[in-house]
Amino acid sequence: MKQAYLLLFLVTSVIFAQDYQVNLDYYLPNDVLYNPSIPTPKSVIGHEVGDWHITHDKLSQYMVALAEASDRINIENRGTTFEGRPLWLLTISSPSNLANLDRIRQEHVSLTEGNSAGLNTATMPVVVYQGFSIHGNESSGSNAALAAAYYLAAAQGSKIDELLNNTIILLDPSMNPDGLQRFAYWANIHKSKNVNPDPNDREYDEVWPGGRTNHYWFDMNRDWLPVQLPESRARIASFHQWYPNILTDHHEMGTNATFFFQPGIPSRTHPLTPQRNQDLTGMIAQFHANAFNKLGSFYYTEESFDDFYYGKGSTFPDINGAIGILFEQASSRGHAQESDNGILTFPFTIRNQFTAALSTLEAAVNMREELLNYQRTFYANARREASQGGAIVFGDEKDAAKTYHLAEILNRHKIQFHELKSDFTSNGKNYKKGHAYIVPKNQKQHRLINAMFEKRTSFQDSLFYDVSAWTFPLAFNLDYEEVAISRAGDAVTNLAMPKAPAVSTSQYAYLMEWHEYYSPKALNKILGKGLRAKVGMKQFNLNGKDYDYGTILIPVQNQELNASELGTFLNSVASETGVTVTAVNTGLTEGIDLGSSQFRALEQPKVALVVGEGINPYDAGEIWHLFDTRYGMHITKLDTQSFGSTDLSRYTDIILPNSWGSALDKEDAEKLKTWVQKGGTLIGYKNAGRWFNSNELLKMKFKSVKDTAKNISFENRGNYFGAKVIGGAIFETKLDRSHPVAFGYKNDRLPIFRNSTIFLEAEAQSYDNPVLYTATPLLSGYISKGNLEELANTSAFKTGRKGRGKVIYFTDNTNFRAFWYGTNKLLMNAIFFGDEM
Ligand SMILES: [Zn+2]
Repeated sequence: MKQAYLLLFLVTSVIFAQDYQVNLDYYLPNDVLYNPSIPTPKSVIGHEVGDWHITHDKLSQYMVALAEASDRINIENRGTTFEGRPLWLLTISSPSNLANLDRIRQEHVSLTEGNSAGLNTATMPVVVYQGFSIHGNESSGSNAALAAAYYLAAAQGSKIDELLNNTIILLDPSMNPDGLQRFAYWANIHKSKNVNPDPNDREYDEVWPGGRTNHYWFDMNRDWLPVQLPESRARIASFHQWYPNILTDHHEMGTNATFFFQPGIPSRTHPLTPQRNQDLTGMIAQFHANAFNKLGSFYYTEESFDDFYYGKGSTFPDINGAIGILFEQASSRGHAQESDNGILTFPFTIRNQFTAALSTLEAAVNMREELLNYQRTFYANARREASQGGAIVFGDEKDAAKTYHLAEILNRHKIQFHELKSDFTSNGKNYKKGHAYIVPKNQKQHRLINAMFEKRTSFQDSLFYDVSAWTFPLAFNLDYEEVAISRAGDAVTNLAMPKAPAVSTSQYAYLMEWHEYYSPKALNKILGKGLRAKVGMKQFNLNGKDYDYGTILIPVQNQELNASELGTFLNSVASETGVTVTAVNTGLTEGIDLGSSQFRALEQPKVALVVGEGINPYDAGEIWHLFDTRYGMHITKLDTQSFGSTDLSRYTDIILPNSWGSALDKEDAEKLKTWVQKGGTLIGYKNAGRWFNSNELLKMKFKSVKDTAKNISFENRGNYFGAKVIGGAIFETKLDRSHPVAFGYKNDRLPIFRNSTIFLEAEAQSYDNPVLYTATPLLSGYISKGNLEELANTSAFKTGRKGRGKVIYFTDNTNFRAFWYGTNKLLMNAIFFGDEM
């Protein structure tokens, strides 16, 4: 019998030279019998694992069929992606565990609660969340999920029984269904009958924007903490339902690499992560190493990647009592590709991912009690650290919606917060009930609260794989500070989007302040209805109420709607957007009267966004997402490839996002210049500034930083330059609130996210510098001393007139990763008030 197995193994483990095809045995352990009543992937999807890149449709088809056939699997659809694809989760364990799943879950979760000391971890299963291919074009993970799920359902014998009896496996076969589908389509349509490993083949060079991202081009492996995307929302809900002990995150890297598993670079672990977490990561690594040694596959650890930013799948678990593990497999991109290590076949990459998935489970079973005890200790220690109490208040007296959206994130992370007992003022800031919340520090998620609210400016290392700061109240531009817990009222158990008061009908005019997050959405609805609206360039007071810069005026006379229809319509706008609209019956104010020429007529913007080759898809996607999902505004995506033949005259505003290299050419620049001269508003970000400058669209002076290495060895040159990168940190700017770009901001300080070294010199005329980095701008995150000196007192914004139009430039991304709510209004001001700048 043993002989027969060996023979089988030798025949099938050889990759057929011509077409790199394999059988299922290539992936599976060969010393195991498989239950013939469990369908193999091929029997359902019509091809062997690795023959083609799995589409999400077929992946779904198989997982549903498998769950149907197996008494070891529950399957649940946790929601849908933007493109309507299901977000599957398979819960895999022994049939007897599945029969008692809710009891097991409750007992497991109670390990994280205050009364956990008496629980007996010796008898509790360990929980492992296995997530595949959050980057859709790193698809060996999701393809390995087919083989892994089959193995877990079909394998027989004492080893699998021990595994299933002691483990609850949460298998997430595709963390990015839309991206996976997009990539599979690309790789499959280019596959030749005789697989061609030439790296120049189109098969290995995906077209923009590629399958890495989700529908709106977000890197979802940065959204575990902000949780702004539907895929993350489902995943974080599963996390808190179970509190897994290990969470794995299967990725791919460059074709010439081997395989990476954590630990990553030790000095780049976030200081809030306990050392024990890294020690356990090292112990788990031993199991991966053993499995890869047996397989003959090469791998490495500790030389790259890190555990700093908690918004990544392999780091998020580390601040939530679990162990996050990153896997990175060298990518074949298509079906087989030449590499430094010979021909890298797609099946080979799948087999490594499959092997790492199994070695993770082996580690989990072997370290079960250690992992469960670690989790209990993690939360017990967090509570101990929190025992001195205290609380954080955050809010915005003028903007309940923005406050709500931060509270929404806290909710998703199971952080408790309270209403205010009563309104109060502290350090010149007003905190108002319904516009502010209080977060007690003494609670289970104490460490996560620290990770979300702290400002950190000193670091052990000066190199970061991703951002070094994400302080949430700064990203939301909310007032916040530490307060006594006695200020807290009732706990919030039913968070709801704030509602606007009903709008009464006026015979004269309506006023709408510009402070609220959804003010642009409301204004767009009003202008979209063909109504006349104006913006106030100065502050005034009417009926005892102060109206700030940028207040929107909607007159009653001479409109498309009569007075009563207008009142009804504005009431519907207020209720749909939550924005307060106030009816007034006089034009006489203290300050500019409503008939003043300081109220300027507005037109409905028709906005286009340049996308395609050369444009940074993340930055472009964030803008598309902002307009489409937050403000309900049309935005037309113009491709760089066909820009030259596009009629621009139908657009009032064109946005050129940050680019990688030159996205548009000289002719495009001339075309844009003509369009601006006729009255268009051109808005550019980051690298677009240098292009504006060299094509004389907007003259600017950028600082050139000269830097020569001294006493830096050849070996250390990478780190030397790495330390001068601003990977992503938060800086303070000073606003001129009377400038239209700053309308709607109630404070004159605004935190801005920056991940570049573009330093724009301030203008000589002070009124031309409405957004200026302060003299000591660092609020949170890492920046080298030299760069900080360069950044101080530079400008973040520039505008210039050209003919009848405007060119507007931002040095920094105002829409970063969909959670920088605080700076979104800068872009909206450029869109709606660009003419007045
Ligand atoms: Zn990746």
